[in-house]
Amino acid sequence: MPNPANAYNELITLVKEAALLGSIGSLLGWDERVQMPPRGADHRANQSSLLARKVHEHGTAPRIGELLAQIEAAKTADPDRAANVREIRRQYDRATKLPASLVEEMAKTEVLAQQAWGDARAKNDFPAFAPWLEKWVTLKRQQATCYGYTGHIYNALLEDFEPGETAENLSRVFESLRAPLVDLIGRIVASGRRAPLDILERRYPADGQAKLARQAAAAVGFDFNAGRLDVSLHPFCSGIGPGDTRMTTRYDENYFGDAFFGVLHETGHALYDQGLPHEHFGTPRGDAVSLGIHESQSRMWENLVGRSRAFWSHFMPKARAVFPDQLKDVTEDQWYFAVNDVRPSLIRTESDETTYNLHILLRFELEKALLTGDLSVPDLPAAWNQKMKTYLGVDVPDDARGCLQDIHWSGGSMGYFPTYTLGNLYAAQFFEQARQDLGDLDAQFGSGQFAPLLTWLRENIHRHGKRHRAPDLVQQITHRPLSAEPLLNHLRHKAAELYGV
Ligand code: ZN
Repeated sequence: MPNPANAYNELITLVKEAALLGSIGSLLGWDERVQMPPRGADHRANQSSLLARKVHEHGTAPRIGELLAQIEAAKTADPDRAANVREIRRQYDRATKLPASLVEEMAKTEVLAQQAWGDARAKNDFPAFAPWLEKWVTLKRQQATCYGYTGHIYNALLEDFEPGETAENLSRVFESLRAPLVDLIGRIVASGRRAPLDILERRYPADGQAKLARQAAAAVGFDFNAGRLDVSLHPFCSGIGPGDTRMTTRYDENYFGDAFFGVLHETGHALYDQGLPHEHFGTPRGDAVSLGIHESQSRMWENLVGRSRAFWSHFMPKARAVFPDQLKDVTEDQWYFAVNDVRPSLIRTESDETTYNLHILLRFELEKALLTGDLSVPDLPAAWNQKMKTYLGVDVPDDARGCLQDIHWSGGSMGYFPTYTLGNLYAAQFFEQARQDLGDLDAQFGSGQFAPLLTWLRENIHRHGKRHRAPDLVQQITHRPLSAEPLLNHLRHKAAELYGV
């Protein structure tokens, strides 16, 4: 008779080994984007693909299936162990349920479709990309069938990014967000007030921006002895492992906003990684809950903290010390307005805190319709443009700035977009609770105290790893299910203050 305790220990050893291999891959990935000379690319591709193969072999070894079956036969009262077994089972099933032929087809399609997408976007030629999108829709339906699902077919794909979340629940929350947002944005535009954006577009040398960004990251709690900030073309944060969390940014010397708020965003991700329980590294118990919860941490520090008046009443003198000439005629009110500008625009990644969510709702609705066949691929541009007009009042001049703008669908990532808005929703709901639990957060930020909020996040979210699924975590911390109200209240409050609406 196999001993479940031994089986569990063996299982944990195996998954920790796979995680260690994976973290070597993360380090190679960081090096590739930050340090590697261009001519090293071919050799790096060989290194990375060998490693990826090894990680996959480890994670899908039949021994893991045997061990899981032994362990699951005996009930456990230990919540850490229960969470680990639950999540390892989920990952194992998802990694082994797909036939090798489908995995191979998807990997090949990813490379070719991304190339086709890059060309199609450059030439504004949607019909050139359409057959690849058709192919992805077919592959994603096959994938969903292999995984199995209840309810909407979208649920099978969502599970890869936001385990436990459903299309039905997302539709409920997103629909309660949509009409009030469309209305709010309409009133902001009609107010005729415009933020003084020109003050962000002065010349801000990169070294000054880097100095200020580092000050901000350190002030909110990023541990530079357990992490780094470097420069890369596309900003990212990579939690390599315990004691090593690396984030990047890029500096536009003619625009202040990108790097500063980008660093605060990545710092939010990094604080989560730095706060995970290191003793559980390599197991689900030591890992982040989901993409949406990860994004809630970045959006909280970037938007709810970093764009607050209290933050700038503390940080404006520091900004003036670094950029005395650029800011000498700028008041704190003007600055606060400029960093909270709301205006409908074409491109998701350039959009503000308020309009951003409508970009996501549109994508969620369209990818759901593509999967069910309610929308055909050739009709996608027209459907996109019509929603942009209805939701944001924007006319889309061409597909390059319309349905071809994002890389996600060309890589087969369907079900990913909602995690961005989930991040905003979770962030606002957590933040509202933190305000109730911690008293006057504004007074704390105004005097440079960010530790109470960080400690609250560590206690309630970071230290639990994957012990709870996102919907349960939200319920547990805020005593109610996910709701659009906290985010709407936050956005309405700012709009009232800045636009008088
Ligand atoms: Zn993020």
